[in-house]
Amino acid sequence: MNHQTSSSNQTRVLNLIRIHQTTTRTNLAQETGLTVPAISNIVRGLELLKLVKEDGRAESTGGKPAQLVSFDGTQYFVLGVDMGTTNLRFAVMNLKGQVVYKEIIPTPTTDRTLMNILDTRIHQIIADCASRGIIVVGIGIGAPGIVNRATGQLIYSPNMKYATSEIRTELMRSIDLPIEIHNITKCMALAEQNFDNDDGATDIFCISLGFGIGSALITHSELYEGANNGYTEMGHTLIKPNGPLCACGNHGCVEAVSSISAIIRDAKTAVDRGEETILKTQTPLTGKKVFDAAIAGDPVAIQVVSNALQYLGIAITNITNLLDPQRIVLLGGMTNSKDYLLEKIVPIVQENHFSVGDIPQIQVSKLGEDAGVIGAASLIMNHIFQSASVDPVDWQLTRPVMLAD
Ligand SMILES: [Zn+2]
Repeated sequence: MNHQTSSSNQTRVLNLIRIHQTTTRTNLAQETGLTVPAISNIVRGLELLKLVKEDGRAESTGGKPAQLVSFDGTQYFVLGVDMGTTNLRFAVMNLKGQVVYKEIIPTPTTDRTLMNILDTRIHQIIADCASRGIIVVGIGIGAPGIVNRATGQLIYSPNMKYATSEIRTELMRSIDLPIEIHNITKCMALAEQNFDNDDGATDIFCISLGFGIGSALITHSELYEGANNGYTEMGHTLIKPNGPLCACGNHGCVEAVSSISAIIRDAKTAVDRGEETILKTQTPLTGKKVFDAAIAGDPVAIQVVSNALQYLGIAITNITNLLDPQRIVLLGGMTNSKDYLLEKIVPIVQENHFSVGDIPQIQVSKLGEDAGVIGAASLIMNHIFQSASVDPVDWQLTRPVMLAD
């Protein structure tokens, strides 16, 4: 057996154990078509790597009860960083996504301060964790904007224009650990696939609904990267010709009519026109206040939110008709009003759905505000899962060219 085959079998076995959490060697042999002795060999290798462990015996079905093997995600730790435009979130977690350390600080608004804080906090967190016996094996960063994952460059970030494009390269000057960076919504999609996916869905479309609207596609269990840095930007598809100006410079994008920024803008316009609404007294206006007013029955707020969600519902229908995913997952600030959001959107998708079957599941992420950090950490975890190795040499990381000092 050549090395390639044996390592890909090891990866298959690891991921089957990870998906089942607990299984038997016989089951693994049936699922892979490998012999039980071959499976035992692979499991022994994964045990030595501390990725898998023996976990007692199954209930007897007559003969000798089978020995159980489980995924052991508790031995390695990854630091995830969510570079939000409002807050920087840091979290250290094991390979099961269980967070053992968490920190949130306001996002600085100049490039040098941002880089200093990222550098200082990452060093400090890794040292604090090491003093507790928690060894971090890599760092994943989710950034708000278009990222070239291969070069690690933040190419375009309308909401963090001051940030250097060379975040990863700069951090790598002083941090001797693998560092990966990607678009934050793409990170969230990895988190959904790894940690909010009980039915093992392989085709998931994620939409993050905040001040902007981001989106990402998992297809055939892989993150869709696109041909040119993977835009996959539903938020910047045109939904209202000659509509409001979008942050991207175009008019009438989904983000320009359906985001929290659009909802706040429209609510302010209604207040300025002197319309009768409880929003008059709610300064400063937030998306949550407009949603709460709509839920409480305020006619102006209902009008503003319904208008935004009507377009969002159509945009989601376009996605389901175009891609036919198993599941649409909604994340971000707007999902704080989960019930109202789903109540408005789902009927629009049902009404306009093309296929004869049911519409995809449309649900709100269970990961809440941790989706970003768990997703960022998943950039590193997926190297371990996809190579069945904890050695970065096997991860096929693209090393960026270091900047000259
Ligand atoms: Zn746009």
